[in-house]
Amino acid sequence: MPDAAMGKILNVDLATGEIRAEGVPDEIYRKVLSGTGLAAWILHERIPAGADPLGPDNILGFVAGILTGTPSYFTGRWSVVGKSPLTGCWGDANCGGNLAPAIKRNGFDGIFFRGTSEKPVYLYVKNGRAELRDASHLWGKDTTETEAMLLAGHGAGARVAVIGPAGERLSLISGVFNDRGRMAARSGLGAVMGSKRLKAVVLDGKLRVPVHDAAAMKRLSRSCNRWVQLQPPFLSGRAMAYLGAFMRILPAQMALDGMLYKIFLKKWGTTSMNQMSVEMGDAPVMNWKGSSADWGMRRSASSNPDHIRAVEKAKYHCYACPLGCGGLCVPKPGGAEVHKPEYESVLSLGGQCMNSDLDSIFRMNEMLNRAGMDTISAGGVISFAMECWEQGILTRGDTGGLELTWGNAAAMEQLLEKMIRREGIGDILADGVRKAAERIGKGAGRFAVHAGGQELPQHDGRNDPGFALHYSVEPTPGRHTLGAQMYYEMFQLWKTVRHLPKPALFYFKGSKYRADEEKAVAAAACSRYMALANASGLCLFGLFLGASRIPVFEWLNAATGWNRTPEDYLAAGERIQTLKQAFNVKHGIDPRANRVCDRAAGIPAQTRGANRGRTVDIAKMMSDYWRQFGWDAETGVPPVEDRKSGS
Ligand code: SF4
Repeated sequence: MPDAAMGKILNVDLATGEIRAEGVPDEIYRKVLSGTGLAAWILHERIPAGADPLGPDNILGFVAGILTGTPSYFTGRWSVVGKSPLTGCWGDANCGGNLAPAIKRNGFDGIFFRGTSEKPVYLYVKNGRAELRDASHLWGKDTTETEAMLLAGHGAGARVAVIGPAGERLSLISGVFNDRGRMAARSGLGAVMGSKRLKAVVLDGKLRVPVHDAAAMKRLSRSCNRWVQLQPPFLSGRAMAYLGAFMRILPAQMALDGMLYKIFLKKWGTTSMNQMSVEMGDAPVMNWKGSSADWGMRRSASSNPDHIRAVEKAKYHCYACPLGCGGLCVPKPGGAEVHKPEYESVLSLGGQCMNSDLDSIFRMNEMLNRAGMDTISAGGVISFAMECWEQGILTRGDTGGLELTWGNAAAMEQLLEKMIRREGIGDILADGVRKAAERIGKGAGRFAVHAGGQELPQHDGRNDPGFALHYSVEPTPGRHTLGAQMYYEMFQLWKTVRHLPKPALFYFKGSKYRADEEKAVAAAACSRYMALANASGLCLFGLFLGASRIPVFEWLNAATGWNRTPEDYLAAGERIQTLKQAFNVKHGIDPRANRVCDRAAGIPAQTRGANRGRTVDIAKMMSDYWRQFGWDAETGVPPVEDRKSGS
């Protein structure tokens, strides 16, 4: 077993109450490391083909990365994994906060649940000793209340992951919540937890995480931190908007250096990009049919990051993070402190719905956090309903009297209440746009924007075709955290992996839409790197520093005692990606069916705004990408011999 791994997982059978620790063979760590790599190995092997995601055979896992708990930075991400009830595919979602090290400090690399409990329970683990406890008194409580009650009972040092009413009611867009406002939101895994009647996981551990060479790790971390702390004192939110508008006009652009994004992130968090993204065409508007021309500089100013920063009272850092992109806000004087809404939340509930009321976004973000529902999917499903209203597909009779006109913030809040309670139209919308369109009929499917059933995030593939590609080809479809052309530029992997292509410093925007071999190589490198990152517990934003500034490969060697090259580690990333794709094939998924919907690929192309005239050659890009992994270029299916262990 490598240093930095705990060498064990915990298996909990919720049907029988059996709790059993299991050793992890060294071969698994060597091939796929830990975190989501370990999870892919276990779930691929143990979930029977065709299992119902909301049935007892699905396995729900909580995993920490191999670097978590070591003297490295940006390594506090934990992941929840399972077969997704939203997409039917491999499902995972990751989150920051303080939960990740608590998994390892209890002596485990992951905790896996199977079966279904008869009554609500929670798992309590103290220094490796685990027991199931009755959670009847917690069932029906929102996430914040549940977390507070558990911490009151187990002490403030405990770390807690919970579901809210959305997960209990099996909403397919529900997530798992921790640290008073952070959520592993994607893939609908809150519903899997709800189906198992598992209300919470409470971890209180102080065991030591072993490290091969702590001194070397600390040296590497100090050097990385120099880049994180470098921060010029200028910049205003308004300037960001004009920068976005300027970038929209230019026919050419410069390859991005993530140090620039790091500066924005450190000042404002992810909200730094709110208005800028709308102006430059990165953020879709009006359920993806509109553009910056519809939203306009005056209305998009509601999401200016300075407005949010004005009510931020403190920065929030996840475990082991020197950057701290989060924030704690008090949006109303004398009101309660809440987590700062992220870029995705502001724009899915803002521009997508043409909503310029920032106060309403704060309120809806808090409602969603308390309910344990994904803000990206919730905004996507509301904007879908608004377009159905505009088209006459939904009427006042369907909506219970709500007028779902664009920008009607009051109606949005009421609709959200209905979704959380699964009441009337809310019951239909609480399972995401694909299912809602099927139930509504009348051609509503034309307005359901998704990939493989998952609502799309606020990054437009018509601006950066890499997003459209990764939404379509990742085994967990519709995810924005795994690759894009701009991510490849910021990762700067060519500086440490010499065979990877170096992008030109300046290029014409039109060249982004040419599907070629170099872009496929870059996209595959992103997927391998992110698979490695999620096996290590790393935060994407740390990786944006660039491979020569964040010592991912060196940390891994110093933590584990291995002596591997960056190429070796990327090969492990490829194995993980192949295992996840094999998981999908085993469960009857046709990878071609996860292709992003036509509207999001610019079919037909928009006639105005930043992305006018832009169409993504998505079918060719998918085929080129699959070829990079040695999978069938027409179907995306890995060779039979690779499906067992990923290689
Ligand atoms: S950069 Fe932000 S999301 Fe990432 S670990 Fe730090 S605080 Fe958490």
